[in-house]
Amino acid sequence: MQQIQAWGVPAASKPLGPMTIERREPKPRDVEIEILYCGVCHSDIHQARAEWGGGIFPMVPGHEIVGRVARVGAEVSRFRAGDLVGVGCLVDSCRVCAPCKDGLEQFCLTGWSGTYNSTEMDRRTPTYGGYSTRIVVDEAFTLRIPEGLDPAGAAPLLCAGITTYSPLRQFDCKKGGRVGVVGLGGLGHMAVKLAASMGAEVTVLSSSEAKEADARRLGAHDFAVTKGGAAFERLAGKLDLIIDTVSAPHDYDAYLGLLRPRGTMALVGAPPTTIQLSPFSLIMGGKRVAGSLIGGLPETQEMLDHCAKHGIVSDIELIPIQKINEAYERVLKSDVRYRFVIDIASLRS
Ligand code: NAP
Ligand code: ZN
Ligand code: ZN
Repeated sequence: MQQIQAWGVPAASKPLGPMTIERREPKPRDVEIEILYCGVCHSDIHQARAEWGGGIFPMVPGHEIVGRVARVGAEVSRFRAGDLVGVGCLVDSCRVCAPCKDGLEQFCLTGWSGTYNSTEMDRRTPTYGGYSTRIVVDEAFTLRIPEGLDPAGAAPLLCAGITTYSPLRQFDCKKGGRVGVVGLGGLGHMAVKLAASMGAEVTVLSSSEAKEADARRLGAHDFAVTKGGAAFERLAGKLDLIIDTVSAPHDYDAYLGLLRPRGTMALVGAPPTTIQLSPFSLIMGGKRVAGSLIGGLPETQEMLDHCAKHGIVSDIELIPIQKINEAYERVLKSDVRYRFVIDIASLRS
C-alpha cells in the first residue's frame, strides 16, 4: 500500500479538506498515474452531500482525471511511462456479462466499480477519486488522451464529454438536425460543442440570460431564456432531440412540448428527486423520454478521438485545490464558465 495526498470530505456535507488515503501498489495489469488535472462535476457535489442516498465516507471525489503514466505493471501492453492518459467514472467491472462484453461497462449486470464513492470489485476496498496526486487503475479502464488536446481542458471530457456525446450518438444527432440543450453548465456546454461538431443546429435553453453570448460562441445557433413562457411558445414542436442536463427539479412537460412528433428528450441531469410527467406529454406526438449514463470504455475513447479531430476541449476555470469549497458554491449558483478544473500541482505543495 502507498500513502497518497488527497482532498475530500470526512462525512456527508462537510467542507472538503486535506487527507491521506491508501492506494494499492500496481498489480501486473495496472497503470499508476501521476494526476495533473481533475475536473469538478456536479455529481461530485451530489455525492459529497449524500444527495443520491448514502455515500461511502471519507470520500475523495473526482472522475475527470488526466495525468501521466508514472509506472506500469509487467503485463501492461497499451501504455508506458510518460503517456498522457485519462480516467473517467469507471475503474472496473465484471468484464464477462453481456453489457461488459459489448463495451457498455456502465451497465455491468453485477455493478461496476466507480472511481470514487464505490468499492473495488472485491466489494470491500473503497475507491478514491481524482482530487489526489496519484491513482492506480487497470489498463482496461485507462483511456488515451490524443496528442494536441490541452490536458487541463481535456479532463472534463472524461465525464461531461462522454455523458453528452453518448446520447447525441444514440439518438442520431446529425447534420441539419435540431438539437436543444437545456442548462448551460459543464455538461451543457460540452453538448453544444459536440452537437455543433456533428453538424446539428443547436438551441440553448437556459435560465441565465447572461449566457447568450457564450452559448453562441460555443456553437449554438439559437438561445432562449426559460424564465417566463415565451420560449416555449416560440420553439413549440421545433426540436428533434433535447439533451436535458439540469441538476435541479424542473418542468419536464414544458420541455417535451418543444419536440417534434416522435422526438426524443434524453435526460442526463440527475436531480436527487423523483420527477413528474404527464402521460399526455408523451402520448400526444408519440414522444420519447430516455436516460443516458456516461459511456462505456470504447465509446469514451471514440469521443476523445472525435474531440481531437475537431479540436474540442472544455472551457475551464483552473483552480488550486484550496479554492474547491468556493468552487462548489459557485457551481450550485450556476456560476461556472463552464467547468472548474483542479490543478493537482496545488496538492503537492
Ligand atoms: P452544472 O455545471 O451545475 O450545470 C447544470 C446547469 O443546469 C446549470 O449551469 C444551469 O444552467 C442549470 N440549472 C441548475 N439549476 C437549475 C434550476 N434550478 N433550474 C433550471 N436550470 C438549472 O452541472 P453538470 O456538472 O453539468 O451536471 C448536470 C447534472 O448532470 C447533475 O445533476 C449531474 O449529477 C448530472 N450528471 C449526470 C451524468 C450521467 O451520466 N447521466 C454524468 C455527469 C453528470 P443555466 O444557467 O443555463 O440554466
Ligand atoms: Zn461526472
Ligand atoms: Zn459486467
